[in-house]
Amino acid sequence: MNLKQQQYINGNWVDANAGNTRDIINPFNQEVIATVPEGDESDTKAAIAAARVAFDHGEWPTTPATERGAVVRKIAELIERDKEELAHLESLDTGKTVEESRGDMEDIAGVFRYFAELADKDGGELIDSPIPNSISKVVREPVGVCGQITPWNYPLLQASWKLAPALATGNTLIMKPSEITPLTTIKVFELIEEAGVPAGVANLVLGAGSTVGAELSDNTDVDLISFTGGIVTGKKIMQAASVNVKKLALELGGKNPNVVFADADFDVAVDQALNGVFFHAGQICSAGTRLIVEESIHDEFVNALVERVKKFKLGNGFEEDTQMGPLISAEHLAKVEKYVETGIQEGATVAVGGSRPADPELQNGFFYLPTIFTDCTTDMHIVQDEAFGPIITVEKFRTEEEAIKLANDSIYGLAGGVWTNDIAKAERCVAKMRMGTVWINDFNLYFPHAPWGGFKQSGIGRELGKLGMEEYTETKHIFQNLKPESINWF
Ligand code: NAD
Repeated sequence: MNLKQQQYINGNWVDANAGNTRDIINPFNQEVIATVPEGDESDTKAAIAAARVAFDHGEWPTTPATERGAVVRKIAELIERDKEELAHLESLDTGKTVEESRGDMEDIAGVFRYFAELADKDGGELIDSPIPNSISKVVREPVGVCGQITPWNYPLLQASWKLAPALATGNTLIMKPSEITPLTTIKVFELIEEAGVPAGVANLVLGAGSTVGAELSDNTDVDLISFTGGIVTGKKIMQAASVNVKKLALELGGKNPNVVFADADFDVAVDQALNGVFFHAGQICSAGTRLIVEESIHDEFVNALVERVKKFKLGNGFEEDTQMGPLISAEHLAKVEKYVETGIQEGATVAVGGSRPADPELQNGFFYLPTIFTDCTTDMHIVQDEAFGPIITVEKFRTEEEAIKLANDSIYGLAGGVWTNDIAKAERCVAKMRMGTVWINDFNLYFPHAPWGGFKQSGIGRELGKLGMEEYTETKHIFQNLKPESINWF
């Protein structure tokens, strides 16, 4: 494999201090595809020290924003140059179809381009001062040393949402990718080096959450922690980050409602209900896993979904006709199986799926059949908990109020959708839906210009868009007295 398979600390490619390594597994067949360093607290401390020096004494934070933007643009160009190799690595590492990974790489280059363009667009603003003979202005400055922790489902996409705005705004950083899917992030650090980011500005430490992640969260030399992952980990990080009141950005889970009214375009709503969940075997934070369908079309809608799901082609992500790959790991597969068991015990009905596939060719991979549960009620675990697998639960409603109540009945508030041809009805629902993103007659669409993040326990702060850039800045008010005079109070 044409990949460094090392950590990147202070401009050097290095093994783990303690000499430990971790095998990276292809979830399609459990083959070892790479062996990478398994860093720990000491590697993390070294990376934090490098980032601290680069921020406090280096030139990056005060480099003209136009120049920083040019470096970030160069990273985008290099990602485009190497996108086929990156897509290949991402599919090997996650099991997702290579077609999906190619789409991810296009998006990732777009994210770097977007933040490169924004880099020099905020030169601060003059505000009206109530004090005569004075100038009052507001400027934005980098926050400092940023710890960035990413999950395994969209390894490089999630990393790009953090790396690009942090670099564009002049921060220094330590990135910790998920220990089970680090390969594309390592590759992008090769590109970050090639693009000319100075030593110490961007550091990569590989290893577990309990060691590397925990050190990033509670080390007092880290000024900001940006985390994407599960809610349980998010709460731990929030607690640890309080040690020095770090700035905090949390992108946590979702259990996202997809509400279909009887007057929606039936075929499109069916198609998008499937797309909304089953890409990457449902391992998507914004998957529309809670389908909420108007009673009058419920049976017909479920039948249409089931007929389509039966024809899904599961398999090797590198084969052209594969539509869905495996789950990420044996542990995750066991977790998904457990959720399905619980759903059955709670009285939900398996309309399709509900087991591992019988196909002998899929037995070495962590495959699970796409599954639809009917007869679901809002109090069931299968409806409330994020299973993060290829599972849809279907609930029924009679009135608009009931649909909104069901949609909002969750501790999460990441995303949701509404399908109807009555635009006034759609607007009424959207106004009441408590989620960071709501789609009308669409699902799972996102782009770098629009902010992404959650209401309620889905997180704190926003990534992407102008707000995603502002997360990486501190706001400073500068007041200048043009005619200083003594006050003579004391
Ligand atoms: P996870 O919480 O298990 O792990 C995420 C990252 O946190 C990994 O890098 C892990 O090593 C690290 N980590 C684990 N324990 C830690 C600790 N104590 N301190 C610091 N870091 C620690 O999540 P996962 O299983 O990798 O990812 C799936 C989750 O991510 C799902 O809940 C999904 O909804 C969420 N997610 C959210 C978004 C979003 O935009 N909101 C996007 C993608 C994934």
